[in-house]
Amino acid sequence: VRHSLPVDDDLIDNVFITVKTTGRNHLTRLPVIIKTWFQLAKKQTWFFTDTYDQHLSQVTGGHVIHTNCSATHSRRALCCKMSVELDVFLESKKKWFCHVDDDNYVNVPALNGLLKMYNPIKDWYLGRTSTTKPLQIRTKSQKTTFWFATGGAGFCLSRALVLKMAPISGNGKLMAIGDRIGLPDDVSVGYVIEHLLKIQLTRVEQFHSHLEPMKHIKTHMFSEQLTFSYSLDNEPNTVDVNGFNEITDPTRFFSLHCFLFPESSCCVEK
Ligand code: UDP
Ligand code: MN
Repeated sequence: VRHSLPVDDDLIDNVFITVKTTGRNHLTRLPVIIKTWFQLAKKQTWFFTDTYDQHLSQVTGGHVIHTNCSATHSRRALCCKMSVELDVFLESKKKWFCHVDDDNYVNVPALNGLLKMYNPIKDWYLGRTSTTKPLQIRTKSQKTTFWFATGGAGFCLSRALVLKMAPISGNGKLMAIGDRIGLPDDVSVGYVIEHLLKIQLTRVEQFHSHLEPMKHIKTHMFSEQLTFSYSLDNEPNTVDVNGFNEITDPTRFFSLHCFLFPESSCCVEK
């Protein structure tokens, strides 16, 4: 079943979608996002970056947050961004926080449908794991195991939960947590929620990162999926969808968008 183009009123106004990005990706990864799914959630989506960019600010209607985090792939820089994402969300008063990477496609109506199923005044940690076992770490000679939702697949947290996290990891404190366990931002979030707050991850298999083969997602299942991703490294991992050619659409996101929303303006031309 294909979705018809959602009108803005249909979209839940109470979700805050954060896209983690970095200066070097502004011109490579963001254009396809801005032309496709961002158009369906312009009011709800904010880009968190580390580099000033007038053009980005203009094409997103000013939806860019300049974190003071460094433009490196270091654990500290990534935890820094995630922590700003969570802090800005709390200021927004929205009911749901959903994080994605800048190589994710968000299926806006499907995300809308997911969030409608849960009550944001309860604690919800919704996402997909990418490991078959919970992570095991050792802190102060004590063994700890916990699950975490892969950041690169996207995950959502209810406001109630982010409020509980705030005294532990708000206001930049997520960086200290990352330092303590020596693990990345998404793992640090899992550690805070599952281990420190004792709230369990609810597995939602419709979030997808490029750690799984995108080809495995079948065409007739596209409209139910919440996110997609790609990796264009030596061995490309992209959604298998008909549409534009690989040169016009290497990420396959334009083709996917036009499969889901054929009447979108970017589907008519090209
Ligand atoms: N990223 C970042 N700063 C960096 C490198 C990456 O904020 O210096 C972000 C990037 O924009 C993306 C996420 O981190 O949203 C994951 O990066 P990437 O997809 O390049 O690597 P992966 O971890 O998926 O292999
Ligand atoms: Mn990635």
